[in-house]
Amino acid sequence: MNPPSVVDSILSARYLRKGEKDFTDICRRVASALADDENERARFYEAMISLRFLPNSPTLMNAGTEIGQLSACFTLPVPDTIDGIFDAMKEGAIIHKTGGGTGYNFSHIRPEGSPVQSTDGVASGPISFMRVFNAATDVIKQGGRRRGANMGILNVWHPDILAFISAKKKEGEFSNFNISVMVNDKFMDLVAAKSFETVWLTKGGTGEKITVGQIWNGIVEGIWKNGEPGILFYDEINRHNPTPQLGEIDTTNPCGEQPLLPYESCVLGSINLAACVREGAFDEDLLRDTSRMATRFLDLVIEKNVFPIPQIAEATRKTRKIGLGVMGVHDAMLMLGLSYDSEKGRAWCEWVMKVITETAIEESHRLAEKLGTFPAWQGSIWKDYEVRNAAMTTVAPTGTISLLAGCSSGIEPIFSFAYTRKNTVGKVFVIVNPVFKEALLHTLTGMGYAGDEREKKAGEVISHVHETGSMQDVAWLSAEFRGLFKTALDIPWREHILMQACFQKYVHASISKTINMPGSATKDDCAEALLMAWKLGLKGITIYRTGSREDVVLALKEKE
Ligand code: ADP
Repeated sequence: MNPPSVVDSILSARYLRKGEKDFTDICRRVASALADDENERARFYEAMISLRFLPNSPTLMNAGTEIGQLSACFTLPVPDTIDGIFDAMKEGAIIHKTGGGTGYNFSHIRPEGSPVQSTDGVASGPISFMRVFNAATDVIKQGGRRRGANMGILNVWHPDILAFISAKKKEGEFSNFNISVMVNDKFMDLVAAKSFETVWLTKGGTGEKITVGQIWNGIVEGIWKNGEPGILFYDEINRHNPTPQLGEIDTTNPCGEQPLLPYESCVLGSINLAACVREGAFDEDLLRDTSRMATRFLDLVIEKNVFPIPQIAEATRKTRKIGLGVMGVHDAMLMLGLSYDSEKGRAWCEWVMKVITETAIEESHRLAEKLGTFPAWQGSIWKDYEVRNAAMTTVAPTGTISLLAGCSSGIEPIFSFAYTRKNTVGKVFVIVNPVFKEALLHTLTGMGYAGDEREKKAGEVISHVHETGSMQDVAWLSAEFRGLFKTALDIPWREHILMQACFQKYVHASISKTINMPGSATKDDCAEALLMAWKLGLKGITIYRTGSREDVVLALKEKE
């Protein structure tokens, strides 16, 4: 089985290596590079070729090749020295070249204006250095395949926090960075208590006082305007740090799903839940079997990985974290008749994630018995139960691999049931979600439509969905049908957060997800969403209000 033909261009641009013709060649190469025996090779091949499980892009691109770098996620420490800062930039460049994304916490860098002893000068601060990292990323295309991605983090207790929060205000600035503020419980407690006048920090040198309210309003304003900064919850992340004896975690990879220690890397892989639905029923045995296979697969990726620098090899092998996750969640729910924004739907998701995590732990335990625990096991949270991996589950964005698999990405709801896509020669197609199309025809049949008339009616609905992105206003369609086929924007933002929280309950690492808000959402809504996320125990949150980025572009255009 090959992926949908519309993704031919992705295959050739990203994954096909010299001499390879199609997806089967890729699966063969990857399975052979990883498997220890023929039986395992066949299992890996079958899981990928049936699009039921795919590893992250670097594994698909580089397994069995000279590059051999197989991980998507990296975090690099940035110390407060010129040497150290430029080392981090160089290390980042090497990682980008091989297809990985890098996360940096810039908080160790002394604030702008502080003294620099050796030169008698003043420091230029973390944001000025971020600008150099951004420029470096611009020039390194990853073997011509994709441009690097970075996460830039600043702790809420760093004196340059206000400048950081508004760093991306101007469209196009820091375009190779996602930026996130690392907030702690102490700060959130003050926000929850509405202690906005409280002085949060005093700047050295100038003595300028910054209040809780100034920071909070800056964050909320930024999110409302253009979706950034994202927020990371330091204490929640560290409450779940599996190896506290190795130090605290203050950094994540670019899309936020992997909080990692300095120099750690993580390899991701995602199970396509839609491929576990057989004739309208969910195949639990198949999910368990796939979870076991995937755990072994990802552990082998660590084994066979060619790490870009020695510190990364060392840190990664110490904890052996893997990131098993899901995609095609919304597709599977629709096939099973479960609404995304319902208790029943969430209960099912929670159950699925519980099964995956439990199975991954079991398999990691089995691997530990055979091959040994991860080296930092003693002193870790697993000290009473032998496992081979310090963390096993996550939810990645699955940006490219979900396109390959032809399924909805990660745990995101579908954006539109009909949309336009261009193929490589520029021909435009309207792609209609097959589950939606089938259910629509079924509904129309139930309403008494048949033959050409039914086709015509279906065409009307599809055109409407294609034009407006929704069919919630097509009043003659049953409420039940409309209730099921809701899109990301039809689903209230609170329900997005509830869904992220129900997955987070069983996910070891974190979750990459966008909380979509309508254009009409207010700053108060953004503030409330952040507080809700914190209270529900999320490790981070990303919000995007419809049209906000375009608004910025329009506003800029008007000024010209
Ligand atoms: P995939 O292409 O495998 O579907 P994802 O969209 O799931 O990848 O992203 C997983 C992780 O891979 C991200 O969180 C990030 O760390 C890394 N990543 C994503 N896009 C890029 C990119 N353009 N360059 C480098 N790393 C990236």
